[in-house]
Formats: sequence, C-alpha cells, structure tokens
Amino acid sequence: MNIHEYQAKEILSTFGIPVPRGRVALTADQVERAAKEMGGRCVVKAQIYAGGRGKAGGVKLVHHPEQAQDLAKELFGKTLVTPQTGPEGLKVRRILVEEAVDIAREFYLSITLDRGTSRYILIASAEGGMEIEEVATRSPEKIHTLTIDPFTGLRSFQARHIALQLGLSGSVCEDCVSLILNLYRVCLEKDCALVEINPLVVTRAGWLMAMDAKITFDDNAIFRHREYPDMMDYSQLDPLEINAGKYDLAYIKLTGTIGCLVNGAGLAMATLDVLKEFGGEPANFLDVGGGATREKVAEAFKIILQDSDVKGIFVNIFGGIMRCDVIAHGIIEAASEVNCTLPIVVRMDGSQVEEGKRLLTESGLNVQCGDNLGDAAARIVKMLAG
Ligand code: GDP
Ligand code: MN
Repeated sequence: MNIHEYQAKEILSTFGIPVPRGRVALTADQVERAAKEMGGRCVVKAQIYAGGRGKAGGVKLVHHPEQAQDLAKELFGKTLVTPQTGPEGLKVRRILVEEAVDIAREFYLSITLDRGTSRYILIASAEGGMEIEEVATRSPEKIHTLTIDPFTGLRSFQARHIALQLGLSGSVCEDCVSLILNLYRVCLEKDCALVEINPLVVTRAGWLMAMDAKITFDDNAIFRHREYPDMMDYSQLDPLEINAGKYDLAYIKLTGTIGCLVNGAGLAMATLDVLKEFGGEPANFLDVGGGATREKVAEAFKIILQDSDVKGIFVNIFGGIMRCDVIAHGIIEAASEVNCTLPIVVRMDGSQVEEGKRLLTESGLNVQCGDNLGDAAARIVKMLAG
C-alpha cells in the first residue's frame, strides 16, 4: 500500500527525521495561502502515487504566492505521466507546498525488504536526486548496501559506516547516523516494505533534511495498523483494482486484449506465458486464489468485463480446493447477469471437470472448452482473430 509524500513526511517527522515545513492543499486558493505562509518563495509539489515528478513538471520552485496559485491551477486535475506511472499517468488532486530549501548536496537513502535474503536492506548513495536509476546502471559501485540482521538490528557503527561512505563528517555525519537509525525504526514500527528518501540533502546551512519521501506499507501487515486504510487515496488507484481488493482478489492490469481469470499466482504466470506463445496479448489477470466461492468467481468475471480493453476471456482454473462445477456456475451467473457476448475459452481440470464442462457448453454462452492449456490458448487467440 502506497501513501503520498506529505503523509510519508509526517511519519518521518514524528520519528525525529527533519523535513521541510509544508502544507498540503486541495485547491489553488489554499496553495496561494500556504505559499504566503512559507514566505512566498516555496516549492509546489504535485502529490501522486509515483516518483519522477520533477522531470514531468510536477515539482517547481516559485517565488510569489500568485505564481504558486497559477501553477496550482495548471496542476490540479492534470494527468502527470512519469516513468513510474505508465502511459496513462496519474491525476493530481493534492499539492504539497513547502518552504524552499537551499541545497548543498543530494543523497539517496532507502530501506526496503530484500526478498532474496528475507531481510531489510539499507541502500545509500552519494549521488542522489533525480538520476538514481541511472547511477545504479552506469556506476553501481556508487551504491552502498547493508543487509540488516533482524536479531541484532541496525547498530550505530553500521549506520556510521554508511554515513562515512556518503562522504559526511563531523556533526552532519552524526546527524546522519541518528537519521539512519530512526529510519530503521520507521520500517519496523510502521511495517514498511519501502522507506525511501531521495533526495536526502545537506542544506547550505549544513543541516540534513529529507526533501522527498516515499513509504510503501507491507500489505500483509495492514491489519496491525487501524489508521492505514483511511490514509489511502483511492483517486490514485485503478477503480477495478479497488473493486478487486474488496473481494480479496488480485487484479493486475496489462496492455493486451485477453482478460484472464485464473486461480493461483503461478498458474497466472504460466497462463500469460502460454497465451503470449500463441500470439495472444493479456489485458489483465485476475487471481481468485485457492478457495474461491461461486460469488467470488462471479465478481471476478464482472471485474474483468468492466475493462473495456477486454475483447475475449480466458479462464484457466485448476479445480483442487475449488470444484469445476462451482466455477462453471460462477461464470454462467456473471456472464448472464451482464449479458456478456464476448468469446470465452475455459480450460479447467480437476474435481468435477466433466460436470463443469457440461454446464458451460449447455449454457448458451459464446464459450468453448479447451482440452488442455495449449489447445485453449490457441482457441481464444483464434476466436479473437476471427
Ligand atoms: P521526484 O522527481 O518525484 O522524485 O520529486 P522530488 O521531490 O525528489 O523533487 C525533484 C527535485 O526537486 C529534487 O531532486 C530536488 O533537486 C528538487 N527540489 C525539491 N525541493 C526543493 C527545494 O526546496 N529546493 C531546491 N533547490 N530544490 C528542490
Ligand atoms: Mn525524489
């Protein structure tokens, strides 16, 4: 789960990490008033669930409150496209107005979950700012990492080692040690999958400050934090993803034309591969999980149909825990309810498969059953071509 920069900064601040003074605004008038409060010269920052805003025109330094207001009028409602948003971009509905800071140096600092070692890993670079991805590919030696042992935690000597590697010395180095230790506390106490400060800056006056912040909470830990659901900005999410979330379904939007209903993440991956091999392009995939009910399958089917890119539907289900006749009922129920005329190909196997296939073929829907995965993939591709 993602949150906005201003929310991430509020959290950092409560953990003792210095951030610029700022205010979040929902209207251009509020932006003007906030800019006045900051003394006129300030930074106007579009709040979207993606980075790369600077280069896309979503972060700008302004010199007068009126200038802030004009920029806000332009930004509110605008769709920002950055390398992290995908081509459809994200709409700006909130703007953060911050005091302008004179920057002397920019660093990169983050802590994230490393799935390889199942541990938190700290990543730091003296070349922070907007080109961190380039630094990582061009000169990976400039990126320092430290895997954190969950039993000993992060120790101050380790944090100091990182601060020294960043080229800091004296009191700024000690400030950085505390900041790194506090950042690790944020990760643990807030159950973060990622906490990223880019850039972390040293100001002209010699203070450390988090100029940008990104926090992703670990979805598996949301139940431990009652306040998290209210922090979510639904305007930043795909409406179909929100709907899928309500029914505890995993929905991923892709770019092709075939909607895929599968059970299990591994089967989903295999389904996408096989479809591609037969020349098909998946529009999405919806994983109904292991023990889905008839209602859940029906809901999943409806969500797939709401995606206007979908021109045909591919169902690939292994009936282990879930029986094939139950799945067939779910499909028929949903397809009839929304008057679906799109071609459907079903590949299913397992418990009650014959009954499931019989129900489908006798349903009157535009549906075919494949003999196996390859055969089914070939069928849907052919149905769409024809
Ligand atoms: P991102 O592009 O989405 O990562 O947005 P950032 O918040 O990182 O802003 C992009 C860049 O704007 C930063 O790397 C900074 O160089 C610059 N920036 C942000 N705030 C300030 C500020 O107060 N003063 C100055 N001089 N630059 C800033
Ligand atoms: Mn940034």
